[in-house]
Amino acid sequence: MTDKIAYVAVENALLHFDNAFSYRIPEGMPVQAGCRVAMPFGRGDSKRQGIVLGLGEEDADDLKTVSELLDDEPVLNDEMLKMCSFIKSHCFCTYYDAVKAMLPAGINYRLSLEYSVSADLGDRFYDLSDEYRRIVTIIRSKNNKVEKHHLLQELGYADSSLLDQMEAEGILFKNDAALRRIGDKTIKMIRLSDDAETLLQGMKLSAKQESVIDLLSTVGSASVKEVCYYTGVTTSVPDTLVRKNIAVYYDDEVFRVPRSSVSDKREITLTEEQQKAYDELSTLYHSDKPEVSLLYGITGSGKTSVFFKLIEQASNDGKDVILMVPEIALTPQMIAMFRAHFGDKVAVFHSALSLGERLDEYKRVSRGIAKIAVGTRSAIFAPFQNLGLIIMDEEQEHTYKSESKPRFNTKELAKFRCSYHKALLLFSSATPSVETYYYANEGRYHKHVLTRRYGTATLPDVVIADMNEEIEVGNTGVFSNILLQNIEENLDNGKQSILLLNRRGYNSYVTCNSCREPLTCPNCSISLTYHSANNRMMCHYCGYSVPYRTECPTCHSHSLRLRGTGTQRAEVEIAQIFPQARILRMDTDTTMTRSSHEKKLTAFANGEYDILVGTQMVAKGLDFPNVTLVGVLNADHMLYLDDYRSYENTFSLLTQVVGRSGRGKDKGRAIIQTYTPENPIIALAARQDYDAFYNAEIGIRKAMLYPPFASICMVGFVGENAKQTEGAAFAFTKQMTQLLQTEFTDIPLRVLGPSQAAVFKVSNKYRFKLILKCRNDSRFREMLARMLVQFSSNREFGNVTVYADMDPLSL
Ligand code: ADP
Ligand code: ZN
Ligand code: ZN
Repeated sequence: MTDKIAYVAVENALLHFDNAFSYRIPEGMPVQAGCRVAMPFGRGDSKRQGIVLGLGEEDADDLKTVSELLDDEPVLNDEMLKMCSFIKSHCFCTYYDAVKAMLPAGINYRLSLEYSVSADLGDRFYDLSDEYRRIVTIIRSKNNKVEKHHLLQELGYADSSLLDQMEAEGILFKNDAALRRIGDKTIKMIRLSDDAETLLQGMKLSAKQESVIDLLSTVGSASVKEVCYYTGVTTSVPDTLVRKNIAVYYDDEVFRVPRSSVSDKREITLTEEQQKAYDELSTLYHSDKPEVSLLYGITGSGKTSVFFKLIEQASNDGKDVILMVPEIALTPQMIAMFRAHFGDKVAVFHSALSLGERLDEYKRVSRGIAKIAVGTRSAIFAPFQNLGLIIMDEEQEHTYKSESKPRFNTKELAKFRCSYHKALLLFSSATPSVETYYYANEGRYHKHVLTRRYGTATLPDVVIADMNEEIEVGNTGVFSNILLQNIEENLDNGKQSILLLNRRGYNSYVTCNSCREPLTCPNCSISLTYHSANNRMMCHYCGYSVPYRTECPTCHSHSLRLRGTGTQRAEVEIAQIFPQARILRMDTDTTMTRSSHEKKLTAFANGEYDILVGTQMVAKGLDFPNVTLVGVLNADHMLYLDDYRSYENTFSLLTQVVGRSGRGKDKGRAIIQTYTPENPIIALAARQDYDAFYNAEIGIRKAMLYPPFASICMVGFVGENAKQTEGAAFAFTKQMTQLLQTEFTDIPLRVLGPSQAAVFKVSNKYRFKLILKCRNDSRFREMLARMLVQFSSNREFGNVTVYADMDPLSL
């Protein structure tokens, strides 16, 4: 005999038993793929949550049975379920890791439904059956609030049908406790009932009641608050009308759309060059194949205008759009513009939203109210059904890569979704990643180019300031003389300046003048940074901090000295030199509260400040026409990191920040301070010559076998015991070598390591890495997944966590 079967992925599964498990579906339970269920799992009678990946029919004699259906309708549709499998195989995680990334956190609380006894049960209690009374008594004994699963367990029920029955009879009610907790907001509304007209005939009404009825028959419906406000009655009047069935209450959900203070509704007429790019893209958008394009245009060339027009077109066609940005707080201008043009059709996704706000935006998308999702990484999961276009602005940015489980690359997911929907995927950048530009040149992507700044603006002039020469002339400060002169000139002319320093805190490190030891974090192999704001020395990795003191913990002499410069010190020093200047600092220390980025940027845009000092958050995306000077205080900081992408990152950062200058009527200038002016990357960035940079870099990548000529996969090992962690890394490597020599001889692979990670110790955990230069195809992923599964089931290394990270951000 065949039964209906659900194939279920289980929550909290470890990698080595993460499979689609078969369960029998009880007669009549309307289980659909994409719904969550509860079912027995493992030994004993403990239950777990799971998600139904698919349905089937087979002989189910020895299968366990689904206990409960938790969702009335699927939380994941067909595309999302496929994406779930895609993420599992590409990111080496479990199904549920993927599910959790895809759903907004608030949705996961759905399970904690609570039952309460109705307040107006009153004397009816004594008329209830024994069983009903037992249930009511249990719930009342627990503060009148019991979580559904606990209640079922206590009652010994397999399902909730009896409780549903009691709910239908008005004895119990379910409250979506968690949703209430995260602040889902509803407004109590009132309207006349369908029977109002009949009931009102011949009924004697008070003047107050009449005025409410008048109002409702004029406006149709209103919130109770409005009714009271306009008629001057208290809520008892509508209450009475509702009790007499003349009116009814209902709830209206309000979506808390994150607000923006800026409103911007400029009209856009594309320039000739922009129009050409738009026309090409528009053709591709109409193609019935999935297409990938790169919009490559210098800073200020109006890439935003081009994709704005594309979005407008998609929106007119009734298609859905995802616009990804690297950092939402830095794009208030763009959000404001989209809100002004598209209103409620825009949903915004980013990590600073509250759980409730996120859930709201998610619901607006899944119900088809919102058609354009703007946001950071998580926007890629917007549950659209009719996707026509995905845009990734500043596609080279590292924020598109997730650094925690599941370690997905948003670009890959965007490609997946565009293939599914046959949609257009558009990457946009002034400094594309080397991989993307390579693919565009090879013809794998389409390429569209903008070569000129919009309007009369031109690229700024760039000066390289050699800081060695400054020392020779006796200037040991943070600022070169030429930068100081230019800041002063800008102050005199009422122009604004941006200063970039890629280091937060007051100093970069603390050392002892006597024993020369740098002061490091006790939990991490990282030096401490002094913060003047709280007078403490802090670790930027684990958050450890100690009050500042001058005594060296190693030699106990009072010789600790602050070295190097961070944003706090730059701010202090510039204020000393120019006491009249109004200075704004922006880094992660100043922007811990939710809306402060936006407030600060708005204040800067309104001319309330002269100088903006900050980390790389001031380098990107900002469009302030009054900024005519950009100063880079130390361009060397990122250049000499031991990472194949450090040149690309430095070139991109410098070009981006230089591009903030001179975007309005006035010609801009940029000054790059460096101790290594001979470094070609700095000269190329000064010339803002991406093509020259690319031509040099692609040669290096090819010779060294780095992306796009190979994929990089890092296998990470983390454990509390250094020796054991190292042992695990070596054992893994040995087993993998065996596998490669026997079953996977066809895989092209270069193995580097194992070795210590760049930061060896973080939060008292030791880290080792194995670098694999590979071809990221299904064969390679099969081999690596096999290794990881094998390792995760190996008791010997139970205390060592092993993970794989494809295209890691740093090695
Ligand atoms: P990019 O993203 O390429 O750096 P932006 O899209 O920010 O450039 O454009 C730079 C500036 O030029 C912005 O202030 C933008 O509003 C303006 N701009 C660009 N194209 C147009 C256009 N066609 N019409 C009006 N303003 C435009
Ligand atoms: Zn010392
Ligand atoms: Zn630390």
